[in-house]
Amino acid sequence: MIGRERLRVSGTVQGVGFRPFVYRNATELSLGGFVLNDNVGVIIELEGPTEAIAELARRLVDEAPPLARVHAVTREFIRPVGEVNFSIRASEAGAPGSAPVSVDTATCVDCISEIDDPSDRRYNYAFTNCTNCGPRYTIVLGVPYDRPLTTMSAFSMCADCDREYHDPKDRRFHAQPNACPACGPRLQWHDTTCGRRAGGGPALLAAAAALRAGAVIAVKGIGGYHLAADATSEAAVAKLRQRKARDDKPFAVMVADLDRAREVATVDAVAEAALTSARRPIVLIPKLQPSAVTDGVAPGLPEIGLLLPYSPLHHLLLAVVARPLVMTSGNVSDEPIAHEDIDAFERLGALVDGFLSHDRPIHIRCDDSVARSAGGRLQLLRRSRGYAPEPLALSVPAKRQVLALGAELKSTIAVARDGFVVASHHIGDLEHLSTYRSFLQALDHLRHLYGVSPDVVAHDLHPEYLSSKLASELDLPTLAIQHHHAHVAACMVEHGRVEPVLGLAFDGLGYGPDGTMWGGEYLVADLRSFRRVAHLRPVVMPGGVAAIRQPWRMGLAWAVAAGDASGGLPVGFPETQARRAVTTLVERSDGPLTTSVGRLFDAAAALLGIRATCGYEAQAAIELEALARSVRRSDAPGFACSAVVDKSTGIAVLDPSGLLRELIRERDNGRATALLAAGFHEELGRATGSLAVELATSEGLTTVVLTGGVFQNARFAEVVEETVASAGLQVLVHGLIPPNDGGISIGQAAIAAAQ
Ligand code: ZN
Ligand code: ZN
Ligand code: FE
Repeated sequence: MIGRERLRVSGTVQGVGFRPFVYRNATELSLGGFVLNDNVGVIIELEGPTEAIAELARRLVDEAPPLARVHAVTREFIRPVGEVNFSIRASEAGAPGSAPVSVDTATCVDCISEIDDPSDRRYNYAFTNCTNCGPRYTIVLGVPYDRPLTTMSAFSMCADCDREYHDPKDRRFHAQPNACPACGPRLQWHDTTCGRRAGGGPALLAAAAALRAGAVIAVKGIGGYHLAADATSEAAVAKLRQRKARDDKPFAVMVADLDRAREVATVDAVAEAALTSARRPIVLIPKLQPSAVTDGVAPGLPEIGLLLPYSPLHHLLLAVVARPLVMTSGNVSDEPIAHEDIDAFERLGALVDGFLSHDRPIHIRCDDSVARSAGGRLQLLRRSRGYAPEPLALSVPAKRQVLALGAELKSTIAVARDGFVVASHHIGDLEHLSTYRSFLQALDHLRHLYGVSPDVVAHDLHPEYLSSKLASELDLPTLAIQHHHAHVAACMVEHGRVEPVLGLAFDGLGYGPDGTMWGGEYLVADLRSFRRVAHLRPVVMPGGVAAIRQPWRMGLAWAVAAGDASGGLPVGFPETQARRAVTTLVERSDGPLTTSVGRLFDAAAALLGIRATCGYEAQAAIELEALARSVRRSDAPGFACSAVVDKSTGIAVLDPSGLLRELIRERDNGRATALLAAGFHEELGRATGSLAVELATSEGLTTVVLTGGVFQNARFAEVVEETVASAGLQVLVHGLIPPNDGGISIGQAAIAAAQ
């Protein structure tokens, strides 16, 4: 029987080779009709035998091109018009849809083999790409995604490229960044120490020679500039640290391929899949010791952040240098990564010996994503390049259009409408003015790309966050959302959950409705509301935010809470005058109160003498975890006195002061620090999990959510998860949405959309 149907495909289906894919299949099945992009996705009309139409509908889902993410296909019968040929029609203009642009994608194997083939016209060409790979989000200026609205608009295609671009059977059909050495972007090298310049192939060779000679250079990539240095050279890495004003914070290392990765780290199946995926995040993996990579890359840490090349330029550079390279964000300390050439020369000029740059502009900066492979799972710690701006499905359609402004650190923003929420790239810590500007750019870009006119602006409850202040300036209705409720909601979005859960939101700090700093919360929550049912025992944060950078202050606060009159810190740690002053603050309870578990981990690290002050966020807790993980769980010592639960005030309070008392005593008895660190994780994890089981049972809940930055601690998460799961409860953890504040905007958007 002959029929005609109109199919609407939604999801990430534009700019990913979807139309030529439909064209090829329709032609093969001898169907008439057309395909076009519209404001929601792709529209297809098919005319011919009904079974052939059904077959094509199946292939749309089962055999879609690699970069496509098909969310839904709807089919509607319409009147046949006698069309026997199939064509690709021009895009319909209009409001943008749920997925107007795909993510930036690592160079595909077909493109790599062309780059490596001396007889190919793209041999050694650093800007090779096709419909299945290349930059997207970072080069798009607006919608619809078409070459004139990308940063490739200034390059006009040569006859060969133009032919590929217009041939539906070619891999580069409508590949908007299509280019070749004859018509496309070109490499440039500028040696800032001697002023020498080079272009094209010689530029690459000059940059590689500089790296091999120990230089620090800036390399323009997909979402911004990297600072690069020879990762095998102690001197080069030390120079980079000193110039970037970065003491201990680990650097990411790019290696040429999986075999090279195995030479420096223990790559398990999860890490391998992530490293080689087209999204190409940085993956934190246990490092081999010793290896060719110098210790200065990740001082004192058992893990190393590795990534594989994701642009042709990276492939070529790694091949010529033939050594692993540090590839760290092109910025000074924690400012936004430089992505515009003039800005990069200004900000990075003094840090580097040369620039390996090119003339394809980057419109939106996008840092590398960071994931951790631990316990057989991948967890994103920073969701950015390769993941943003991929929409996430909402399990209940948004009741209104939302703009969510996130928190303050690791800032992201998000928009929600209809059935999806989209989070931006990683913006950074909003305390810097330059980050704030970058935040405003991201806001404009995201709203524009996704055609969102917000009915409400969701923001954190903290009145002092820049994002909260901005919310009130936007002249739109606002909704303040409690920080830990947003954490729980983010995890619910990830798992498509709507029904109430018991959420454990453990993190550094978040503003509580009672004006204290929360961070160890048990919430009964759904997307509409929450109720606090338990929390960590509150202690004073002596000196307020100073206690974040100086874990020894929290060590004192908890030691006093544990009844250790001597203050509990190891002898000579830190100098006595400051210590006396802070002890006075603690005794007078002078400072904000906090229930933060992040701060409790800081305190334990300080009490064990691991670290008095932090050079980067959560350094003390990260080192405490690393020590704990050096001990097998079965070897961890038990403590006579664990954390206890006090219900005298009507809300359960988890009190670990007895555990800390034991920790101090065992330390003074000379027990090995690693054993005590492991014991602390076990005891606190078990007490945390047991309280969760008790509360979930009394509340009639069957699902427990583990969220907040503390659950990036794989050992602690494992113990809590095991305790909860062994009671027959379901445990939800984060995978693709960060458990830290990078996920807050998504949670806020979901809550605001559900009101
Ligand atoms: Zn390709
Ligand atoms: Zn060309
Ligand atoms: Fe948080």
